[in-house]
Amino acid sequence: SIKIGVLAVQGAFIEHIRKVQELGVEAFEIRQKKDFNQSMNGLIIPGGESTAIGKLLRDLNMLDKIRNEIQEGLPVFGTCAGLILLAKKVEEGMVHLGVMDITAKRNAYGRQLGSFYIEENFEGVGIIPMTFIRAPYITQVGDKVKILSVVNGHIVAAQEKNRLVTSFHPELTESTKVHQYFIEKLCI
Ligand code: GLN
Repeated sequence: SIKIGVLAVQGAFIEHIRKVQELGVEAFEIRQKKDFNQSMNGLIIPGGESTAIGKLLRDLNMLDKIRNEIQEGLPVFGTCAGLILLAKKVEEGMVHLGVMDITAKRNAYGRQLGSFYIEENFEGVGIIPMTFIRAPYITQVGDKVKILSVVNGHIVAAQEKNRLVTSFHPELTESTKVHQYFIEKLCI
């Protein structure tokens, strides 16, 4: 059976676990390096604060482990801060895992439009609800990156091989469609 690990050091991990379970798929928390001893079909890196998650991953000696797993093919889905953690380049911030050929701009919508809700198209899925909270967006993508969603002219979802990212928080909406996309298209 399919099992999804959810990085649970900081941020909105409980909501991701619930979404995965809603799809009838097993989910478990990853808090320490040894949690990678369990087999898993995919990894979710939640939203939260990318600097805090990055620091914890370094303190817990997990950064290299996660990078290696992704480079060896473990499917990964990063939302919001998770997108920043996966990006090879970061405007207004540090690079952490640096495994996806995108440039992320942190807090890209500024203070005024810090948080908002919209319904927009996600490639291959249709119109879905999207909740943005002090979100980044993607300002540049490499040749191998597939753009999956554009909102107000900004790239908010993309995929490169086994790596999927969204600027928004699908786990904070009533839809399970992006999690279903991750599991069906990347993990199975
Ligand atoms: N602004 C946060 C960061 O830079 C991301 C916000 C979020 O994950 N909701 O890490």
